[in-house]
Amino acid sequence: MGRLALLCLMVLAIAHGNPEARVVWFDRSLAVDPGAVRLGDECWLPIIHAEKAKLTAKLVDNGSAVLIGNRKYAARVLAVPESSGQEIKIACLPLREALKDQGVSTVWDGSELKCFATLTSIEVSDGKLKATTSLPVESNAFLVRNPDRLVIDFKGCRLPDKEIEVATEFKVRTGQFAIDTARIVVELTGAAPNQPPSRARGTERIVALPTTVAVAEVTVVETDPTEFAPILPVVENADGSAWVRMPLNAGQKPKFAFGESPEQVSVEIGPLTLAEAVRQEFSDPNGLVRAISMAPGSAGTGRLIVELSRAAAVRFLPGAQDVSLHFTVPRNAGGKMRDKIVTIDPGHGGGQPGAKAVHQGKTVFEKDITLNIASKAAQRLGHTGASILMTRAGDRDVGLYERTTLSNDSGAHFFISVHADSTPRPNSASGTTIYYHKDDADSRALAQAILKEIVAVSGLPSRGVRSDSVLYQSGLAVLRTSSVPAVLIEVGYINHDGDRAKLVDPKFQDKIADAIARGVRKYVGDD
Ligand SMILES: [Zn+2]
Repeated sequence: MGRLALLCLMVLAIAHGNPEARVVWFDRSLAVDPGAVRLGDECWLPIIHAEKAKLTAKLVDNGSAVLIGNRKYAARVLAVPESSGQEIKIACLPLREALKDQGVSTVWDGSELKCFATLTSIEVSDGKLKATTSLPVESNAFLVRNPDRLVIDFKGCRLPDKEIEVATEFKVRTGQFAIDTARIVVELTGAAPNQPPSRARGTERIVALPTTVAVAEVTVVETDPTEFAPILPVVENADGSAWVRMPLNAGQKPKFAFGESPEQVSVEIGPLTLAEAVRQEFSDPNGLVRAISMAPGSAGTGRLIVELSRAAAVRFLPGAQDVSLHFTVPRNAGGKMRDKIVTIDPGHGGGQPGAKAVHQGKTVFEKDITLNIASKAAQRLGHTGASILMTRAGDRDVGLYERTTLSNDSGAHFFISVHADSTPRPNSASGTTIYYHKDDADSRALAQAILKEIVAVSGLPSRGVRSDSVLYQSGLAVLRTSSVPAVLIEVGYINHDGDRAKLVDPKFQDKIADAIARGVRKYVGDD
């Protein structure tokens, strides 16, 4: 290979050797043409675009250096892409290095350089907190209750590499709440007076510290985001419940989902960008909340997960500026199984056979399957020490209202109705569904507790716990008229070949009966 050929190769290597890089200034992509490139561990920006990154730059020393402020940086002439697809050679500056000296925080993954302001100082004096940032950002100050804290979020801002020293008697913590949000938390002692959240924009934010507040004694500054609790207070109430409140930024929406586990609640919140998952454990004196974590969710959302120490009834209270979750020990839980009365209700009976299907040449009726499973469940529950009430023990007609009247009048603690599902078209659906009435949180927790156990042993898909209002506006009669936590279990589909083979199998019925008994015990907390 001649010298000329070698030279050509080298030029080509340079021309195609620099991958394109994207520069994101806060939440906007910098429109630069020709664009930035990666070389080594640096993002190189054509000097002609310096102003877009708020830099005043000048080529000096015959083009070998670039002057920014009063510092010189090595300049490079690099082949960079134009939007036309062509590459041109142009003088570039080392953007990360230059931005860092200007107080701009960057997050660089080798192809995208995200630029943010930096939280530079925090001062507390005369009952006021003053925080400064290297670039103007939006900040939101709000109170979080029990224990009372003042929280200030700086959007488009990151903590500095070095800890911020704060000289004050207040307990002040800082944390990187999300990839683009730095947070200051001031712990207050005593109750702070109400004040609405306040937003501001600039490089300086001054917030008055609530005045009726006594002064806490220690100063701690933490910058480790894994130790920082970005989230959420757990508030214990005197009545044995727990609250979890999460402040929401404007435009953020919570989405709730009820899974199979009564010991976990998840809320998807978006839009929300999280740098990493955080988890904090609690010792909730009411024995409800065990840990709270926040993890990146799907497509620009964050997932708040509350882990519970026991099956709990949860109520969601979405507000304008926050979302609250209220946890209680569900109704009739606690204590011993031997003190409980459980009503078992085999669906249909007598002249009301329920759904039917042909199995191996013989017609099978829902009423027989439900009686078999319910009888077994009654037996298993009896073994736990509970007293059992069956709405029918044989093949006879029982009215819907008769079933719950019997149960209510007997002082039962739980009502469990056993059914098998059916669809208009055979083999079109499979799996277990458990219904609860409307949005009754106690019955929902019972449904979850039982479904979790069934799914673990049935080999059938879970179709989830569902409100009976999806079936009828007024719900299901036996659930509506029950005065205690009540569920209706659709174990499987009688007109699905796979489900039916299981439903008529005594061994499968045993498993389901065991699972029902285990679920009730879990709910009670006597397991
Ligand atoms: Zn039925």
